[in-house]
Formats: sequence, structure tokens, C-alpha cells
Amino acid sequence: MNNQLTNTARKVVELLKQEYPNAEIALNYGNTWELLVAVMLSAQTTDVQVNKVTTTLFTKYAAADEKQEIKKFAQTPLEELTNDVSGVGFFRNKAKNIQNSAKQILEQHGGVVPNTMQELTILPGVARKTANIVLGNAYGVYEGIAVDTHVHRIVQRLRLVDLDRIGKGKQRYFKREEDQVLDFKKGANTDKIEQELMQVIPQEDWFMFTYLIIEHGRAVCIAIKPKCGKCLLADLCLAKRS
Ligand code: SF4
Repeated sequence: MNNQLTNTARKVVELLKQEYPNAEIALNYGNTWELLVAVMLSAQTTDVQVNKVTTTLFTKYAAADEKQEIKKFAQTPLEELTNDVSGVGFFRNKAKNIQNSAKQILEQHGGVVPNTMQELTILPGVARKTANIVLGNAYGVYEGIAVDTHVHRIVQRLRLVDLDRIGKGKQRYFKREEDQVLDFKKGANTDKIEQELMQVIPQEDWFMFTYLIIEHGRAVCIAIKPKCGKCLLADLCLAKRS
């Protein structure tokens, strides 16, 4: 393990904890199934937009208990469910995956959302990011680090991951004085980024790390023109703008 990188990672986590003491998931949900649905809907869509859609969705599909609610998602005509989630991107695929996941959870897990990475990632449309979010928030199980778009970008900028070990991606550069500096690789392999991060982030921080970085990504380290002049991580960052 690279000790210098581990120390940098620890500093990043500590600074972000001080800056964003209330960092947490921004999606609204009332039970584990709703959490899974909200996270599935959130791909390529803002949390604000997902919350708008799920406010109506979860009211419509509310039931006496979670299992009955999952049944409603499984039994509603797909066309109707598709229409109910049409306010998010890629809604047709998402509706299909949500319905098939509901059926699978009823048939194979007794109507209870599973609590292991292996079982969750077998569900249609559920990859490690979604599984990590559900496991951490619903079950307090930390099997990995959820790599969303902010984590994907910012850990590269901070070089907490080795950019040569995260697969191919479209290389984004920025100009620093006379030099072109690599900013991050858009589309680099998310699972490889997660594996690299798990080597340097202490396990007790895996869960919070995602939400701390998301806060920083929304407030300061935005995708285009990050506000490096206001960034508390600037001294640690190799992609700092001058
Ligand atoms: S210094 Fe700039 S690029 Fe680096 S983490 Fe801060 S805002 Fe992002």
C-alpha cells in the first residue's frame, strides 16, 4: 500500500468531515425498497428530480407494508409504471428493471430486499454503486464505496486513484499556464476506481466518503470550472487550477 497516498486520503476525509458534518444521502425514501427504487431512478438524473418523481410514485404505490408495496410494483402494468417514472432519464429501462427486481425479490427473497452485495447485484439494473448505497443506508453494511459521478471525477483530480489503473476513458485536460494538465478520464471504469479507493480509504469511512465527496462536488469541485480558489483540498490536489 502507498503510505503517502493513504495519508493524503485520510487528510481529505478529515477535512471534508469538518466542512460537511451533515453530509448524507439526498434521496427521499420510506423503506428499503423505496431506497432501492430511488437509487435505480437516480442514474443520469439529479436527486432533486428523482425526489419530485418519487413523491408521487411512493404515494401511489403505498401499501400496508413493504412487501405489499413491492407487489404493487411487480403487478402494475409495465406501461403504467413506465409512465409513472417518466420524469427521469432512461425511464423505460428503469421501469423495466424496477419491475423485474420487484418480481425477483418476491420470488427469491420472500419480499425482502437482500442485504448482500452478491444478491443485490444479481437484481436487474443493480450494479455496485446502487448496491453500496442500499447496503450502507438501509443495513449499515459497508462492502465497498459507492462511486457516483462526483466521486468518479474528484478522486481522479485528487489522484487518490492511479489514472493508469482505472481503464480507458475520454481524457479531459485543462490549461495551467503553458501546460495541458490531465483533469480526469470521463468514462473510466467505475469498479476499478472503487477497488483503488478501497485500498486507500479507511474502511470505517467508506460509507461517508461518498456523501462527503458529493457535497464537495456540488459546492466546489464542480465538473466544469471547479472553484479551486475556494477549495479546502487545494493543497492536496494535483488538478488544482492556478
Ligand atoms: S483544488 Fe480544484 S480540482 Fe482540486 S479538489 Fe479542489 S476544486 Fe477540485
